[in-house]
Parts: sequence; structure tokens; C-alpha cells
Amino acid sequence: AALYSEFKEEDYEDWDAAKGAPYKVLTDTFQKIGNTTKRLEITLLLTNTFRRIIKRSAGDLLPAVYLCVNRVAPAHEGLELGLGDATLIKAIAQATGKKEALIKSQYEESGDLGTVAVSARHTQRVLFPLPPLTISGMFQAFKAIAMAQGSKSQDQKKQMIGKLFVSSKGNEAGYIVRSLQGKLRIGLAEQTVLTSLAHAVLLERDSTSGKGSLAERLEKAAQTVKQVYSLCPTYNVVVPALLEHGLDDLSKHAPFSPGMPVRPMLAKPTSGVSEVLDKFSDCAFTCEYKYDGERAQIHVWHDDAGKQKVQIYSRNAENNTSKYPDLVARMASCLKEGVKSAVLDCEAVAYDIQQKRILPFQVLSTRARKDVTVTDIKVQVCLFCFDCLYFNGRLLFQEPLTGRRQVLNSVIKEKEGEIQFAKAMVSREVEELEGFLNDAVAAGTEGLIVKTLDATYEPSQRSLNWLKLKKDYLEGCGDTFDVVPIGAWHGKGKRKGGYGSFLLAIYNPGLEELQTICKIGTGFSEEQLKELSDQMRGYVIGKPKKYYSYGETLIPDVWFDAKAVWEIKAADLSISPVHQAARGMADPSKGISIRFPRLVRVRDDKAPEDATTAEQVTEMYQQQTLVQAKKKSRRDMD
Ligand code: ATP
Repeated sequence: AALYSEFKEEDYEDWDAAKGAPYKVLTDTFQKIGNTTKRLEITLLLTNTFRRIIKRSAGDLLPAVYLCVNRVAPAHEGLELGLGDATLIKAIAQATGKKEALIKSQYEESGDLGTVAVSARHTQRVLFPLPPLTISGMFQAFKAIAMAQGSKSQDQKKQMIGKLFVSSKGNEAGYIVRSLQGKLRIGLAEQTVLTSLAHAVLLERDSTSGKGSLAERLEKAAQTVKQVYSLCPTYNVVVPALLEHGLDDLSKHAPFSPGMPVRPMLAKPTSGVSEVLDKFSDCAFTCEYKYDGERAQIHVWHDDAGKQKVQIYSRNAENNTSKYPDLVARMASCLKEGVKSAVLDCEAVAYDIQQKRILPFQVLSTRARKDVTVTDIKVQVCLFCFDCLYFNGRLLFQEPLTGRRQVLNSVIKEKEGEIQFAKAMVSREVEELEGFLNDAVAAGTEGLIVKTLDATYEPSQRSLNWLKLKKDYLEGCGDTFDVVPIGAWHGKGKRKGGYGSFLLAIYNPGLEELQTICKIGTGFSEEQLKELSDQMRGYVIGKPKKYYSYGETLIPDVWFDAKAVWEIKAADLSISPVHQAARGMADPSKGISIRFPRLVRVRDDKAPEDATTAEQVTEMYQQQTLVQAKKKSRRDMD
């Protein structure tokens, strides 16, 4: 709060209020953000930029926010930037009159096409200075580029990029290229953008309203905006609502509505039945099978013409509707009479209808990902429903699980092998719970999710009201880890030509760093290793990203861009002088590392930001220490 009092209007001579905010206002901010890793400083820089925009051309706030999150539409619309390097290299060469081969070799050397673009632009003679690029102009141009389709689209894209290039000045060309590549990566997380948006609106539009000190109001504003955005994840609604109505009653002006995915509630790991009983000693809970498939958030509603609409969203709010036409078709006959609209939380699981048996996740992953036609489907899927978030115009997030389950019962008509309720039971007896866990595993699921019966639905939270109990807890850590491969060492002997081992990292959202947690080199089949090597070769970059945190004594032969997410199993965790995961959290100066990691599977459904966090690693380390201490004291007593 104190830092905001030093806010100054910065002078941009190009800033003609009638023409809108110059793009340079943002790229200068990006540059400053890229030079720091301090989260507070990043928030401050971005807030002040948003404040300037609100003061002088508030209509540019929405495109500015989109440019900061590097998107041109809400995530669930699937309209993405992410142009291939080859197209961009051609566009840079054409627009600046440089040879493609030169651009390519400079790119290979520096690892950042943005820097190459800035220097190519810098050495180009400009005969007629063009008007400055604007924030809204850039947003429109990026959107048009993302939307271009058809046989001539590559040429159209190159032309559009060329035009932007010729008008760019200073650092702008670099950010144009990085944005188009879909890797702006200046260490700006979406949560920080939401915080800055809230702070800027509070300071410019709402600074006198509300109770408490400015610091308290800033915190509350950020919480409000994040909460509203998790239920209404589209800036097209949230930003205008903020500008028009401020922070009070924001949820009324940016409400949840079917058709917009909600970030799902997630569970915390536990190490065994006794931990569950300890944690839930004074509340009623239920256990459900933890099915091993893909999360499916199913939205059913009627459009203005009275036609039933169905949309299916993944764990990461991606639109999976075209992957599951069979489920879409099924919905009409699976809903009870009188159901006009509903949002169901389910797991889509591969299912053998003859044998009435759940099939492993690997079978589900063989299904095509997009534009599937019903006749081509070979893997049948059963939906296991476990929650209901919305029913006939009524929001259920604030209702306890017991109430939501009752509604779920009144929405779904169970049909074996097509749509079923998640198997559940209530007990406090250790033997019964262990028996149910064993049954769950025998039925082909991952274990159990234990849920408190009075808990509300907490979107995007890894909640203490949902505890997962996986069979893995019997043989190592309580849970698997989702890690990002950021480097690799070349293979030797039989593994020559591919990679022999990989450097893996977890995510620290506070520092916006990917922190190394272990090296993995065993447990792969040669075939699997070749497949992984082929996949990862496409992500090689010249040097490590600024936000990679690694030990100086563990430098891989090649670095990767943070793209892939792998799920790994661990024997245990230990304090490490080399690895940086959760540095300073469990130990004052050291990090945590995983011992004996084994690859479980590649997680195509997760982004690097969804990797296991430093906080989760610390919790698991502390949990493990606790369990070991208990075991030891039991042994001592015996
Ligand atoms: P994982 O790596 O185990 O998939 P995750 O981080 O994606 O973990 P978790 O918090 O571990 O998510 O577990 C929640 C996931 O478990 C949900 O996203 C859902 O896909 C799946 N799931 C299966 N059965 C249930 C259930 N009965 N209730 C809630 N989630 C369930």
C-alpha cells in the first residue's frame, strides 16, 4: 500500500488519448518485469501501468489485460497464438529484408527469436516513420492472426506480422515475436495480472469505498477479483464490469453462467487412513472412489431458441466437447425430467461394457483428442458423477456437499456403463476404510477421495476438505508429483543419439520459478526413452530461462523450454544441497529432492503452471517426517 503512494503519471509523448494507449506502455512494463523476479515489484509495475491506462483511456484496459496474459480470447474458446518458428522467421526476414538463414542462425545462437527480431529491425533503414502501435491495435492484429484459416492463411499471417514489424520501435518487435510464439514468459502469472487489475481498479475508481486500511482493502480487492474470475473466467465480462461497477457486487455483474468452465476443486494428498481420521476427527466425511480417467465438467443448458446445449471442459478449462461426441449425445437421455440446466463434475473413464469393468487411464489416452466422430470411437467411456455445481438457474457452490449430492440425485438417471454416481461410503472404522480403499484399488481406480460432508465447493482450490488416499501411499510418498522436464543429458552406449537422463523441476508460484527437484535416468524402457527424447527435442532452447532455478553443479547438456509435464512417483524426499525445490521452506537454505523417481506417465492435460508446487512438496516432506517419526516411536515401544 505504501509503495502505491509513490505512483507517478509517466509521460509518453505518443500517448494521444483519442488514438488510445501506445503498445510501448506495455512493452516497457514487460521489459521491467522481465528484469526482476520479485513478485511484489512485478505487481507494483503492472498495477501502475493499468492505473495509467484507466486514467487516460480506460477502453484499452481489456486489450491490455489480454496482451499481458498472452491470449486473444477466453481460454475455453481455444483460439490460440503459438505460431511456429518457421513462419515467424520467414515473416521477420521478409519484413526486414534480411536473409532467412541469417535469422535462423542468430536464433540458434541466442535462443530467443525476440532479441533477433529487435536487432534485425534496428539495423533496418526507415524511410517513412509510421504511426505508433497501439494496445488495442495490437490486440486486434493478434486476434486476426490467430483466427486466420484456410489455404492462404500462412501468407496472410506473414503479411500481417510484416505490417506490425515495420511499425514497431525499440523493444516492441521482440514482444511481438514472443507473444506470437505464445511464450511471452516474462514471469508474469495470471494470478498476478488479476491482483494488479484489482489494485488498479481499487486505487483509481474505488479508493474511498469499503472498510479497513488501504492494505486490507487491496488484499480484499484481489481476493474478490480472483474469486469472481474463477467462476466467470472471461475478461470480456469481468473487466467492463469492474470499470463500470467497481468491486462491490462484482459477482452480480460478472456472474457464473453455464457454458463457462469453472476451475475445479482439487484434493490434498495424505499418507494413510490414520491421517484422514486425524484430520477429520471432528467432522462428518464420506469416501468416494478416485476414478482414473479425465475430469469432465459437463454443462447442459438451453439456448434462447430452446435448443439443448452441452459443453464438456477438462481439468484445465479446455473445451473437450469435440473429443466426446458420445457423451454429448448421451446427455439427453441421462437427465431426469424437468432438468433445464445443470453443471456436473464427473470423471470420464474408459470402460469395458461387456465385462462391466473400469479400464486403465492408458486405454482412455488412446482416444483421439479433437473432432471425433461417434462411428470412429473404439474406446467406450463411462461417466462417474461426483458433484453438481448448478441446477436450473441455481448456483450450488455455497451449498454443503450433502445438499449438492441430493441435487445430483435429482438430476441424473443412472445407466450402467454410461453414467453412474461415484461409488461412496461413510464410516469411521479403520478396517472398513482400509477395506474400501482395497476395493477401490481392486476395481481399477487410484484409491479414494475423502470429502467432508459440510464443505462448500471451492473452485480452483486444492482444499483440505478433499483428501486423496492413493494406493501409492503404501509404497512411498503419499502422492505422485507433476514435474516439468527443463533439461537433459545426452545418452551413452545403448542410449546414444537420444537423451539418457532428464532434469526435472517443480513450480514455485510465489517466486514464479521452476525449481529443480531431481534427475531421472532409470526406470524407462529404451523404447519409452526414445519416444520421450523425440518429444523433448522439439523444446530445446539455447540457454536456461531466467526463471529456472538449478544447482550450479548440475548443469544439463541441453535445456528445454517449459512445455511438458510428467507425472512421477517417488520413494521419498530428502533435504538437498543441490536441488532448489522449496528452497528455504523446509530447511533455512537448502532445497528438497526426490529420491528414486520413476516416470508414471506424460500429463498432456497439464500445463507447467499446474505442476506440483513448492508448498505441496514442503507439505509432503513434513508429512513424511511425521510418518517416519510415528513409525520409529511405534518400533521403540515394541
Ligand atoms: P492427479 O495427478 O491425481 O490427477 P490432480 O492434481 O489432477 O491429481 P487431484 O487433486 O489429485 O487432481 O485429484 C482430483 C482429481 O481426481 C480430479 O481432477 C478428478 O479428475 C479425479 N477424480 C476421480 N474421482 C473423483 C472423485 N470421486 N471426486 C473428485 N475427483 C475425482
